[in-house]
Amino acid sequence: MIRFQNVTKRYATGQEALSRVDIQIDRGEMVFLTGHSGAGKSTLMKLIMLMERPSNGHIEIGGRDTSAIRRSGIAHYRRDIGVVFQNHQLLFDRSVFDNVALPLQVAGYQHSDIGRRVRAALDKVGLLHKERVNPVTLSGGEQQRVGIARAVVNKPALVLADEPTGNLDPELSAEIMTLFRQFNELGVTLMIATHDIDLIERMNKRVLQLAEGRVIAGGVPQ
Ligand code: ADP
Ligand code: ADP
Repeated sequence: MIRFQNVTKRYATGQEALSRVDIQIDRGEMVFLTGHSGAGKSTLMKLIMLMERPSNGHIEIGGRDTSAIRRSGIAHYRRDIGVVFQNHQLLFDRSVFDNVALPLQVAGYQHSDIGRRVRAALDKVGLLHKERVNPVTLSGGEQQRVGIARAVVNKPALVLADEPTGNLDPELSAEIMTLFRQFNELGVTLMIATHDIDLIERMNKRVLQLAEGRVIAGGVPQ
């Protein structure tokens, strides 16, 4: 699903955020991404999203050579990748339903299709009964679950999560991880960046560790 070969990313400042990175993540895997602040985690995810391009090396996502994807093809490419952020980035001027529907509306799905898919996604995160409320009225954990529903509503093959439990207490973090595991069991490939060592240890999944732009552990499946 994800293959980096000898990938280096140097920003315009000269900062080398990733250095000669080789990674392989197979379809259906669930992998944690760790490393101190500045290790290159966000850069790695931005390269997968095509928000940044590598300075050197080769990146293949879902069997596609990303260097062949032009600017005009990026929006379409991203439809198959769900993204979950730490501060969920929900819109508070509309309902839970409309927040989750957003990616489908952007992608031009039909009205009836949108209703069915949004409710399926909200059901999976246990928030079907909240579809009409404004997300501002929800707890932090519920808001993050709405963020996850929005990320998976398109049924992406790959989900990237950047510190998805950064603002949550241990109990809620564990709930979020249980959700991710359930999506993984449906066949979704997941990459989750986190500093939460306790959480990682409990999940018993591959850990890809970065330090100063280099992979120091877990770059390829065992
Ligand atoms: P992490 O997500 O692990 O904290 P980042 O990928 O954000 O790491 O950053 C890796 C390195 O690249 C850091 O030294 C950071 O300062 C630098 N960096 C990140 N984004 C940029 C940018 N847009 N321009 C210049 N340097 C950057
Ligand atoms: P449908 O054809 O009704 O759209 P599928 O047959 O493609 O559904 O999927 C089978 C089941 O797995 C459905 O319940 C679907 O919602 C769920 N599913 C598969 N992939 C994902 C995903 N990435 N996110 C959420 N649910 C998924």
